[in-house]
Amino acid sequence: MEGTAVVTGASSGIGEAIARQLLNSGCTVVALQRRAPRLEHPQLRFYAVDLADAAVASRVANEVAARHPVRYLVNNAGVNRPGLLEQATVDDIDYALAVNVRAAVILTQAFVPGMRAARFGRIVNISSRAATGKTGRTAYSAAKAGLIGLTRTWCLELAAAGITVNAVAPGPVATELFDRGHPPGSAKRQQVIDSIPVKRVGTPDDIASSVLFLLSPDSGYITGQTLFVCGGTSVSGTGGE
Ligand code: NDP
Repeated sequence: MEGTAVVTGASSGIGEAIARQLLNSGCTVVALQRRAPRLEHPQLRFYAVDLADAAVASRVANEVAARHPVRYLVNNAGVNRPGLLEQATVDDIDYALAVNVRAAVILTQAFVPGMRAARFGRIVNISSRAATGKTGRTAYSAAKAGLIGLTRTWCLELAAAGITVNAVAPGPVATELFDRGHPPGSAKRQQVIDSIPVKRVGTPDDIASSVLFLLSPDSGYITGQTLFVCGGTSVSGTGGE
C-alpha cells in the first residue's frame, strides 16, 4: 500500500501491530498517543498527544493534517473503565467516551478534508465485541457501540467522496489492556479462553490483518460495516472485551 496512515494508540498492542503491518506494506505511518512508539522504522512519525484532552487532540490532528497527506485513519486508541452499572462513575463515562469516541470524531474531522480533496480515504474505527453487551462494561460498551453508530453515519456522509468507513470489533486479544484484567496464568483468563469458540485468545496481528484488508484500495465496495474479529465470541455470546 502507498500513502500516509494515521494510527492512534500505536505504542502497544493492537495499534502497534497495525502500524507495523502498514509500515511493512509500504505506508508512512503517523503514530498518535502519549508514549513514544517501540517500533523503529524510517517511515514512522510520532506526535505525542493525550487524546483525552479535546483541545490538544484537535491542535495536534490539525498540525498532522497540514504536514502529511493522510489517506488512511485508524481510530484505535482506547481505554476500558470496567465496572458494573452501580459502580460506573461520571468520570469513568466521560473518560471512556473522550478517548474512544470524542477523539475519533476530532481526528476524523481533521483528516476528512484532505481525503475529500484526494477523492480517496479509508477510515477504520476499532470497536469491541463488548459493544453487543458485556457484564461490567457500562462505560466501555457505550463507547464501543458509539463507534459503530459513527461508522454507519460517516459511511453515508462520506461514501460519495470516495471515503469508506468501517469498524473492526475485536474479541479478547492478548495485549496490555487484556492482560491487566486477565493476568497470564489466572483462572479468570482460562475461563475466558474456555469460552472462546476457537479456544485461544487473539493476537494483535489477527486484528491488524483485518484492518489492513479494510484499508486496502481493493476494499472500496465495503463501507459502514462492523467486522467482528473475535474467535466466534460474538456468535456464542460469551467472552470478549
Ligand atoms: P493497549 O492498552 O495495549 O493499547 C492502548 C493504546 O491506546 C496505547 O497505545 C495507548 O497509548 C493508547 N491510549 C490510551 N489512552 C490514550 C490517551 N489518553 N491518549 C492517547 N492514546 C491513548 O490496548 P489494546 O491494544 O488492547 O487496545 C487497542 C484497541 O482495541 C482499543 O480501542 C481497545 O478498546 C480495543 N479492543 C481491545 C481488545 C482486547 O482484548 N485487547 C478487545 C476489543 C477491543 P499511550 O498509553 O502511549 O497513550
